Amino acid sequence: VSAIEKQSESESWDIVVIGSGPAGQKAAIQGAKAGRRVLMVEQDNSVGGACVHHGTIPSKTLRETAVALTGFRRRSGHVFEVTLREDLQMASLLARVDQVIQAHETFIVRQLQRNGVDHWHGRARFAGPHELEVEGVDRRVRRARGDVFVIATGSRPRTPPEVPIDHEHVLDSDSILSMRYLPASLTVIGAGVIACEYASVFAALGVKVTMIDRGARPLLFLDPEIVARFVEGYQRNGGQFIGGRSVRSVVWDGLSTVQTTLDDGAVVESEKMLYALGRVANVERLRLEAAGLATTSRGLLAVDEHLRTSQPHIYAVGDVIGPPSLASSSMEQGRRAICHALGLPVGGTPELIPVGVYTVPEMSSVGLTEEQVIERFGCAVVGRARFDEIARGQIAAIEDGMLKMVAGPDGRRLLGVQIVGEGASELIHLGQMALASGASVDTFVDSIFNFPTLAEAYRVAALDIAGRRGREA
Ligand SMILES: Cc1cc2nc3c(=O)[nH]c(=O)nc-3n(C[C@H](O)[C@H](O)[C@H](O)COP(=O)(O)OP(=O)(O)OC[C@H]3O[C@@H](n4cnc5c(N)ncnc54)[C@H](O)[C@@H]3O)c2cc1C
Repeated sequence: VSAIEKQSESESWDIVVIGSGPAGQKAAIQGAKAGRRVLMVEQDNSVGGACVHHGTIPSKTLRETAVALTGFRRRSGHVFEVTLREDLQMASLLARVDQVIQAHETFIVRQLQRNGVDHWHGRARFAGPHELEVEGVDRRVRRARGDVFVIATGSRPRTPPEVPIDHEHVLDSDSILSMRYLPASLTVIGAGVIACEYASVFAALGVKVTMIDRGARPLLFLDPEIVARFVEGYQRNGGQFIGGRSVRSVVWDGLSTVQTTLDDGAVVESEKMLYALGRVANVERLRLEAAGLATTSRGLLAVDEHLRTSQPHIYAVGDVIGPPSLASSSMEQGRRAICHALGLPVGGTPELIPVGVYTVPEMSSVGLTEEQVIERFGCAVVGRARFDEIARGQIAAIEDGMLKMVAGPDGRRLLGVQIVGEGASELIHLGQMALASGASVDTFVDSIFNFPTLAEAYRVAALDIAGRRGREA
């Protein structure tokens, strides 16, 4: 057999996973734990996907620095004025980010090795419904056959041709952390989760941030009262929001300034720009047609309730199938896909997916919002607890915090919880568990909470609801 023929010989696995982000990892680990031979193919040098290298982990680590800074100022009653050096290098701020990424990646690699998952470094494309071609950096092509395939190729920032993204002055969410210096000013286009997170983090770090979006307010899918409190906190940190405007043009003047012209002719100038308006699925290079697959009109892979594509042995999980596009849901989809493929018990379908928005201040939501309850049941009974009215909130000097508890018309059935303020993304899980177990509002009224805690906000909001019963129905 010639060397070339040898290179293109096909090897076989029970399960072949494309992509090593949260969705691919959990699929691979689940398959290996069930005793199957698993191959994971990843085109990047390192494993972990967008989550570890450009998304969740780096953005949250930078945020931790911003939160520590604002928290210190607030808690010290502004006795100490902490300022960052004007020529602060991003590298100083990101030193911890590199350590956290490294630690996370090492953990993932060890977990894959411990479970005996084979790993190929290369770009995968289908050669047939049961076969992949994997092209390495040296252009060498290997072939892998599989009984089950999992497409977990994730997504990347949308880069429209009219915006001159050069990754130096006009950046996207993959390149934003490659800036050398903390800029004096930043324009953020978009007001979704990624836009709001970075806008508020950079504002908290002292950057003059202007966020621009077509919508009248940011994050239209969240409760407006919660978002209004976020906007107040963001503005208190110096951030500006321009809503109801679209962008006519973006020009880098070649010297020092990005000029953004809005539809009404107004011009916003800044040192850098972050363009964060949507993401697209990574599907183009997979040669889907060779596997008999096609994408939806939105460029996504369509799946059924078991995460199967139109080819029953090919599953798709994570960002490549569209919303909710979270690391948390992607991991669970990876696990579920393999359980289904192998006929293992999958567990009940999680109806309650919490949303955590790691802005400064942060927001989190689970279950229905007030608007959704009114739409469905005609009326909602809502209880509120402001963090500045509970002891722990006062001690920690939390200015923007609020927990909103939403009950049905009888004021007893708990239907949703929304929180803004420090600890929101952790606190929400108490509400999630209460919703999952069918606990009523009275469960919170009849419970004793540690004092002083932010969790006490649940009891205060429940008491608020109890006091309104009958009045709002
Ligand atoms: C800035 C930012 C902040 C975020 N913050 C949060 C957060 O706080 N909480 C949260 O839950 N989610 C967050 N997310 C979303 C989260 O990162 C994604 O939902 C998650 O990474 C999706 O996982 P995935 O496995 O589907 O894809 P990815 O993580 O994108 O991984 C896909 C992998 O597939 C590889 N790949 C693609 N094509 C091929 C191919 N042909 N061959 C081989 N390999 C291929 C890619 O190189 C990549 O490594 C954030 C995202 C961003 C961008």
